Amino acid sequence: MNSIGIIGGGITGLTTAFRLKSAGKHIVLYEASPRVGGQVQSIRRDGYLAEFGPNTLLETSSVISALLRDLGLESRKIYAGNKAKYRFIVRGKTPTPLPTSPASFFSTSLFSFAAKLRLLREPFIAKSFEKSEESVADFVRRRLGNEFLNYAIDPFVSGVYAGDPEKLSVVHAFPKLYALEQQYGSLIKGQIRGKKDRRKNGDVAKNSAGMFSFDDGLQVLIDTLHTKLEQEIKLNTTVTKLERIPEGWKVYYNDNGTEYINLHSSLILTIPAYQLAGLSHNIDGIDLSALKEIYYPPVASLALGFKKSDVTHSLDGFGMLIPKKENFHILGTLFSSSLFPGRAPKDHVLLTNYIGGARSPEFAEADESTQIEFVLKDLRMLLGVRGEPRFTHQAFYKKAIPQYNIGYAKYKTLLNSFEGKAPGLFIAGNFRNGISLSDCITSADTIAKNLLSSF
Ligand SMILES: Cc1cc2nc3c(=O)[nH]c(=O)nc-3n(C[C@H](O)[C@H](O)[C@H](O)COP(=O)(O)OP(=O)(O)OC[C@H]3O[C@@H](n4cnc5c(N)ncnc54)[C@H](O)[C@@H]3O)c2cc1C
Repeated sequence: MNSIGIIGGGITGLTTAFRLKSAGKHIVLYEASPRVGGQVQSIRRDGYLAEFGPNTLLETSSVISALLRDLGLESRKIYAGNKAKYRFIVRGKTPTPLPTSPASFFSTSLFSFAAKLRLLREPFIAKSFEKSEESVADFVRRRLGNEFLNYAIDPFVSGVYAGDPEKLSVVHAFPKLYALEQQYGSLIKGQIRGKKDRRKNGDVAKNSAGMFSFDDGLQVLIDTLHTKLEQEIKLNTTVTKLERIPEGWKVYYNDNGTEYINLHSSLILTIPAYQLAGLSHNIDGIDLSALKEIYYPPVASLALGFKKSDVTHSLDGFGMLIPKKENFHILGTLFSSSLFPGRAPKDHVLLTNYIGGARSPEFAEADESTQIEFVLKDLRMLLGVRGEPRFTHQAFYKKAIPQYNIGYAKYKTLLNSFEGKAPGLFIAGNFRNGISLSDCITSADTIAKNLLSSF
């Protein structure tokens, strides 16, 4: 019975499984759906390459490069072009470049003169000793001012979490930002001095990490992991119950309508929090149902292809983010064909638009034709799009991204107690140690290492 059960075949489960198999462990990966990859999926059609959910991966840690090297994927990796460092924020209905240097910060029209002066005061604002959790919005208002919240952080939070800065908890949603204030007393001082510490740990700040995908999209990573784990993956297999027994764990699962039981010495759970909430188990004093409260707003991603000549904007950049104050339907648009080659046929462009989120959940749930109509309206005004799209692809996530909102500590405490009372059981996934793919990969790697060292 010396085998390890991994539940959930998203990027977290696949990475953990690959790491444990490579270390010679016998594993079984249970995946409820007919495919692995979870939120990661790419599609090639009519000469376009669109992503359903995530578009890019950040090389924030040597763990990411080691995974790609061990999978033999280095030659298929493509870094975002130089243009990716230019980002646009919409202000006054105009996509305005986000400053990339101190000189461009002073000359930008994105922030008023008063907002720039306010930002320069940041290093002189004392750190907070407040014990209660602070929202991202309150934290930014206090340190950087209201305008910076509205025209930098609000759109950035939409781009990352599709979330609401008034509700997200700064310590849980942006722990590194929070730590800068705690450790250095200022975000600006911390940015400068923190560089040395990051270099020492081999970590790279998200804003300077290499951004990449693969020649055939992020699906390449999933397909490669799938091929390496072909024998160990059970598709269409929903785990319904866990039972702690003296020898380890009984896993009850439903395979294409039939109930089975497997025995494992250890278990790694990588399913979303709202699924974990419904998993029955026999660990005394642990009620996982509270995990259902974690808010996952719906998000739709609408990829639209156009003839290049039908778009007035140069699309020289990563994309544009739209602050709530500007009142558009789109949260943000990636200039996908500017980021990576091969995303659109010659003389065509691909724009990937995200809609819904905590800002307007109802719009994520609208029918596709309504979404296209309103997104096109926004694109015509903001990017000078003329004519009709030559390609459309919509992906809808009913529960997209876990919101690390105020009060999140109680869920982390619950997960810690569950692990504490359930020897040989580990929990990972985007609701635990960060939502990005790079967070998921690094936490999967850590879990695999912890488990291996416990043998
Ligand atoms: C629209 C969108 C855009 C994003 N953009 C980016 C981006 O550009 N860059 C980035 O870094 N991140 C991005 N993210 C975040 C990132 O994609 C996710 O955080 C990450 O993919 C989550 O991986 P996971 O393995 O933790 O979970 P998931 O991908 O949700 O996988 C969990 C798996 O568990 C399975 N499962 C559930 N219940 C059971 C059960 N009982 N038994 C067996 N299996 C079960 C599910 O079927 C699923 O396959 C984006 C997310 C979304 C939704």
